[in-house]
Order: sequence, then structure tokens, then C-alpha cells
Amino acid sequence: MPNMEISQHPYADLLRIEMMPNIWCSGCRIGRVKNAFIEAIQNLGHNADKCVVVAGIGCSSRIAGYLNLDSIHATHGRAIPTALGVKLANPELIVTVMGGDGDILGIGGNHFLAMGRHGHDMNVFCMNNYGYSMTGFQHGPTTPLGARTVTTSGGSPYVPLNPVAVALAAGYTFVARSTSSHPYHLMDCMISAINNRGPSFVEILIPCMLFERRNKIKSLEALFLEKANIKETLSEEDVNETDFSKEISLGIFRDMPVREKSQLTLVKPTKKKAAKKYHVSFKSRDSGIKHVQIRMEGTGGQGIVQGGKTLIHAAMNMDPELNSTMTKRYGPEMKGGSCLTDVILSSQPIDYPFVEVPDLLLMMSDIVSKERGGEVVVNDNGTIVVDESMVDQSLLKDVADGVQVFKVPATQIARDNFKVVVANNVMMGFVAKTTSIIDKACIKAAILGSAPPGTEEMNLAAFDKGYEFGGS
Ligand code: SF4
Repeated sequence: MPNMEISQHPYADLLRIEMMPNIWCSGCRIGRVKNAFIEAIQNLGHNADKCVVVAGIGCSSRIAGYLNLDSIHATHGRAIPTALGVKLANPELIVTVMGGDGDILGIGGNHFLAMGRHGHDMNVFCMNNYGYSMTGFQHGPTTPLGARTVTTSGGSPYVPLNPVAVALAAGYTFVARSTSSHPYHLMDCMISAINNRGPSFVEILIPCMLFERRNKIKSLEALFLEKANIKETLSEEDVNETDFSKEISLGIFRDMPVREKSQLTLVKPTKKKAAKKYHVSFKSRDSGIKHVQIRMEGTGGQGIVQGGKTLIHAAMNMDPELNSTMTKRYGPEMKGGSCLTDVILSSQPIDYPFVEVPDLLLMMSDIVSKERGGEVVVNDNGTIVVDESMVDQSLLKDVADGVQVFKVPATQIARDNFKVVVANNVMMGFVAKTTSIIDKACIKAAILGSAPPGTEEMNLAAFDKGYEFGGS
């Protein structure tokens, strides 16, 4: 036999070698699942650029970090919705969720059910090791009745959840069970799952050293090999046969042909009239701004946050060299509660994004001031622009002599001419006219950039009305 030189490991292309050695315990079989997945991808001949793996938190979820594929390590239990985002953004991708029973069936249980119902073409490969292993082995949804864990030291009193039965009930169109001790069978299941055009689920039984130790089991792997029975056809009894001390039925429980229900897409195609094109041209320039603090305050629902966004985009239109921050604060009630947006524009780096004392205060209502006991916070040499249709004027009597106050019935103008919701842009027009902080065209371009389709004309006209009100 001729000497054959192997220049690299056959899995090398699909592994992040720089991440090795892995964190798994010696004797853990998660690595085998990883290898079976690599072989499945290689056998299918898929371009690695088309394969995405999304994982949550836990020992099994660490697989995502070792695969040389586009992968996301999501938050605990949220791998499925994160994967769904990937799939909706690019339906051509083969998206696979990999994780453990605690992550997918426990914390992410609701997402697991929803995925079966919704019918997206994605794969869920769930490594079932009967508990939360990464944190020392706490009880989880699949912990066997009577099994000892950190949190059930006297033995679990709960009947375990049967992942295959749940997947079948939830509507997964491909459902299989295998183990890490049957790598070729596991790879075949993975290949069939990936080929299925609907939601696919493979339960993969894996031994955990912590579970073995706590329950005085010499080798779960030996038990899997002894008790597992790979079957061509499986019955309802096989679905329920999950007790590894008796018999474990392995195989494909459901493999439905291409799902009849169409896959969901992010946007429903609708025939729309071609939108009218608007354009506002502006010139960028050196603004000369050193440091300006702007606060817009009012009531939730008045477009206070949107106003802050308009100001910051307008400032960036005018002078892209400026540093800027925007922060927003509102109560849990959102609509109807107090709301304020802070914008800082500076030629220097900004260390602290909250406005302490604004140079320019835009008061769309008096709710924030009244919550402060009637205090109006503004720089002694600053400027206040007030929506006089919404603000109690008596609040302004104590402002310092150096403060300039401009008044505009922004809400009234918006109500009389357009809709109340564009009062914030009436305010913007008035601000553009009465203060010289940001150029008119830059603000209009910012408004246009964020106006929902079909409302551009109204928003720009509201701005013009406010500008007109500011005088000639
Ligand atoms: S704790 Fe269990 S599942 Fe986690 S790496 Fe160790 S053996 Fe594997």
C-alpha cells in the first residue's frame, strides 16, 4: 500500500482550530455530535457559507463556537428566535439550532413549540443529557423520574418531558431520535433532517459525567449501546420508550414530504402604487459647534424620541465631524407618561451622554416640569422653545433673565392643518427659524429620512408651517 500523506485533518475546514482544546469534560460525547454534524454537511456537499449554526447557552451550545461556520451564540433559550431572524433575512441559508435540553426544551420551551407550529424550514438538534450540566447539573425538563441532581438531591419527583412526543405534537415535519454513541445513525438522521423542507427535530441522547456520578451510573454510553434499538419503522410505543434502563427506540418517527404550507416570509408582497419620490438637498459644513446640550421633553406619544432622532440626524447632516449622543427616558406607561430625549453635540469626545443643564430646551408639554415640582431646567443663558398650546405659561415666570423664550402653538397648528402627530415637526420648523443651531435643509432631510412612507408630504409641510410661524 502506498504511503499516503494527509496534510490536514479531514474536518479541519469546518473547525475553528484556534478555539481548541474544547471545554468539554473528558468522556463527554458532545464532540461526537459536532463531528457527526460536520460529516453531515460534508456528505451533503453544502457550501459552508450557506450553513449557519445558532446556539444558546450550555455545554452543548458551545458547539457553535468550534464550528468554522457563520454562527451565533445567543442568550439562554433564545437560539430558535435568533435563528428565525437569520432564516427570514436570508431564506437560502441552512439554519440549524444546536443546544441542550435545558436550553431548547426548558428555558426556550415556548420557542420550541412555536417553531413546530410555524413551519419554518430550520433544524433543531437537541442534545439531551437530562439536566442543566454546565452549572453543575440541576434538574431540567427531561431529568428522569427519581434521578438525583443538584436541585433534586432526593430524586426528581417529576415525570420527564418526552422531546420526541412534544415535537410530534408541535407539528415538526421531521422527528428523529439518536444518540452520540451511534455516530453514523446520528449523521444519517442529521442529513435527513437538513433535507426536510420544514421544521426538523433530532433528539440526541448524550451521557453527562456529572449525571453519571451523581446517580452512580458506571457508563451511560454502555447503557445506550446495550439498550438502544435502531428501527426502520416506529410505533407509538416507540415514541414513549425513553427509559434507558429498559429500551431506547431510535430512528425516524416522522419524515413528511415537502410541507404543503408555504414558508413564511418577512414581508408579504403586495402591489403598491409607486411611491412619490421626495428629495431635500443640503450642504454639510463646519458647524462651529463646541458643545451644545439639547433636551426635548413632553408626554409619551408626542414624538419626543423621534424629535431627538431628527435633531441628531440633522446635526450629522450638517457637520459629520461632530460627536453626538442621544439618550431617552420615559416611564413604563410609554403613552401619556413623561418622556424626555437628551441630545449632545460636541467637537470633543462625549464622556457622559446625559444632559445635565440644557442650552436649548424644547417643551412640548409641561408634564416633566410638573413632575419636578414646577421647575424648568435650562442654562441661565439658554433658550426655551415652548409649545404654548400644551404648556402652562406660569411655569416660565421664574426662569433666569438671560433665558430667551420662544412660543409656538405647535400642537394647535398641527391639529388645525394636519394631524396632531406631526406637532413635533412644527416644533422643528420653528426651532430652525428661531435658533441658528442646525440648518433648515439639514433638519428637513432628517425628517424625510424617518417619515413613514406616505407621510413625507405632511411631515415636511408641518415643518414649513412651524418655520413660517417663526417669522420672516
Ligand atoms: S458537564 Fe456533562 S455535558 Fe457538560 S461537558 Fe461535562 S460531561 Fe459534557
